[in-house]
Amino acid sequence: MLPGATLGILGGGQLGRMFTMAAKRLGYRVVVLEPAPDSPCGQIADEVVQADYTDEVALRRLAALSDAITYEFENVDARAVELLESLGKPVHPSSAALRITQDRILEKTFARENGIPVTAFAAVRSEEEARAVYHGEEFPGFLKTARGGYDGKGQTKVNKGEECARAVREMQGGQAIDLILEKLVPFEKEISVVACRGRDGSFAAYPPIENMHVRNILDVSVLPARISEESAKAAIEIARKVGEGLSAVGTYCVELFVLPDGEIWLNEIAPRPHNSGHATIDACLCSQFEQQVRALCGLPLGSTTLLRPAAMVNLVGDGSGDHLHGVEALLAEPDVALHLYGKKKAPKGRKMGHFTVLGGSGSSAEVKARELREKLSWGT
Ligand code: AMP
Repeated sequence: MLPGATLGILGGGQLGRMFTMAAKRLGYRVVVLEPAPDSPCGQIADEVVQADYTDEVALRRLAALSDAITYEFENVDARAVELLESLGKPVHPSSAALRITQDRILEKTFARENGIPVTAFAAVRSEEEARAVYHGEEFPGFLKTARGGYDGKGQTKVNKGEECARAVREMQGGQAIDLILEKLVPFEKEISVVACRGRDGSFAAYPPIENMHVRNILDVSVLPARISEESAKAAIEIARKVGEGLSAVGTYCVELFVLPDGEIWLNEIAPRPHNSGHATIDACLCSQFEQQVRALCGLPLGSTTLLRPAAMVNLVGDGSGDHLHGVEALLAEPDVALHLYGKKKAPKGRKMGHFTVLGGSGSSAEVKARELREKLSWGT
């Protein structure tokens, strides 16, 4: 599918926006389906179908306007994706991959079946199951909703069977919500691998990225991660296995734990470009978003070589105002690229933009990035 074709995207947030920028640079047209007016992606797409993500008429219109379709978040209704698939246009990720990555129980089971190391886990559907799962053994664990959680939402740390049973009661609130109990991983670092699989099964991965979170939201990413060569190889191997196991087409991300001995375990899979991969826009010739465009269109995948080490800082609203102060100071710096998503309101916790600093090493880029962040603030 060559430039000039129209790509459809479900979801008009910043991921859709950056996908659209990459697509348009290559000469594609983009149509987005999004309920909100003036969305980050809608502002720059060629056409907007403004409707709910489950609106059947709108989904059919999106398919009619598009030569291939993708979506920017994994909490999309799998039935909507199935409907799009039934309309005869290529849709990636597939509904089959989506079903697995939408559900932590299916995802971790998939990992175990594919020989990918994950922490001990069990599905928990009731208080009795919570007590039984502990088998009298007390260990710190995380109780999470199987579906719908992100950025640490829908999860709580529990230390023993009774506490877990209580948390089950609170999280379910009388409803039949599937939960998963995971044993706590005593990790040293969190990293991710952003990878891409082409329609022909070709595979490309960026070097592993080191991720630091604040209140469960990604705060700073360093590319490349400061890990051993063996750990990096193991991380990329996990990404390869995940892509093959899911028969993935497109960009996806594996979030991983690095254990003290350097072993790598899978935490979760995002079947789409990922926040931790934003530095690839400025640090690589072909970004994670351009890879997504290439894979969707059946084109050769691009280079994942790092031109320079980089650090990325997320610009997250803190509730003190909708305007970012200090932009001029940031732009006065060489080696810095600022990305703002065009959102009008910056409530606490909302991802408003990011900036990337290129450096001689990941560490020096990180130091500079943290220094520069101090020059920025939210205000009226
Ligand atoms: P998640 O939404 O599953 O990615 O979890 C959000 C964050 O919680 C992760 O990035 C980790 O920092 C932490 N976390 C989640 N699960 C575990 C676990 N089993 N052991 C240790 N930390 C975890």
